[in-house]
Amino acid sequence: RTTSLLKSLIGSQLRHYSEGVCTVTLIPGDGIGPEISAAVQKIFTVAHVPIEWEVVSVTPVKGPDGKFGIPQAAIDSVNKNTIGLKGPLMTPVGKGHRSLNLALRKEFNLYANVRPCKSIEGYKTLYDDVDVVTIRENTEGEYSGIEHEIVDGVVQSIKLITEGASRRVAEFAFDYARNNGRQKVTAVHKANIMRMSDGLFLRCCREAAEKNPDIRFEERYLDTVCLNMVQDPGMYDVLVMPNLYGDILSDLCAGLVGGLGLTPSGNIGTQGAIFESVHGTAPDIAGQDKANPTALLLSAVMMLRYMNLPEHAAKIERACYATIKEGKYLTADLGGKGKCSEYTDEICQKIAAE
Ligand code: NAD
Repeated sequence: RTTSLLKSLIGSQLRHYSEGVCTVTLIPGDGIGPEISAAVQKIFTVAHVPIEWEVVSVTPVKGPDGKFGIPQAAIDSVNKNTIGLKGPLMTPVGKGHRSLNLALRKEFNLYANVRPCKSIEGYKTLYDDVDVVTIRENTEGEYSGIEHEIVDGVVQSIKLITEGASRRVAEFAFDYARNNGRQKVTAVHKANIMRMSDGLFLRCCREAAEKNPDIRFEERYLDTVCLNMVQDPGMYDVLVMPNLYGDILSDLCAGLVGGLGLTPSGNIGTQGAIFESVHGTAPDIAGQDKANPTALLLSAVMMLRYMNLPEHAAKIERACYATIKEGKYLTADLGGKGKCSEYTDEICQKIAAE
């Protein structure tokens, strides 16, 4: 089954990435971003990962039209390399500030946001059998950015669902399930209330399910999934859903395995992919050597698998999980007293000792 556009695209990228050293765009980001990016770079060097980093800033610059946007050098870098790793970006609060994260997703058409959440052995949480992947439609839905005031005190916000984007993400979910040895895809929706918009999304998922009979398919209401997820997360495998639901549900899943400091993500697009930690810039601990670099490191591990470098990915992942299991250098968000630099050095030592 290699017919879909997406698969052939990923296939050609895999070939491309397999040919010797390749360049990856690195966007360190704001707040704790530079510290955790430096940690990932250090670990990659020790693990002899065959990539070169092209570091770019995405701090908005004023264009010829007087509007602020992503610097051309950053856009060119991602377009050229087709793969990037990104730290968190600060979103200024207030009118007229567009989220840079949203702008990046639009610029590179990163249509599927993939967030795996897996229990980490040795790190105690409510459940030890969480192993779910949320796949969130990343370009439209409630985040279409179309909002207006109809009359004073009445605001309308448009939830945009298209057949093209829904079909694309639904097919991605089935491809992802198959390529990652997973058994089931659950479509998460509220088509009982939003009959047309979620109804269309659901229809596209059903059609993708018919084309992929080797993967089990089920449909569940968002509220039911939330309830089940906190009572019995082992019920679910791969979940696919519209934008807003994915944003919220994936944080719930992150909470089940130890929080945002641990959870990675990938934004997959038609022209390439950007991997990033789920958490924000953590301004309260920035510059204090307290940040947990795991989420960005595991995002980088996802990136390596995407680039067809599974051995390097596995080596880094093993060292990271072993360091968490040992518990000696855990950062404060995980209940420890370790510094970001100590935790990073311990991972490096484990890799070097292998
Ligand atoms: P946040 O994720 O930055 O912080 C929430 C809490 O979690 C804080 O107490 C913080 O110290 C802690 N935390 C987060 N990441 C951590 C890590 N790696 N190690 C240890 N502790 C960690 O969320 P926020 O405070 O709501 O947002 C701060 C800024 O980040 C805002 O400007 C927001 O817009 C932005 N943000 C960016 C992204 C992104 O770039 N993808 C995502 C979320 C928020």
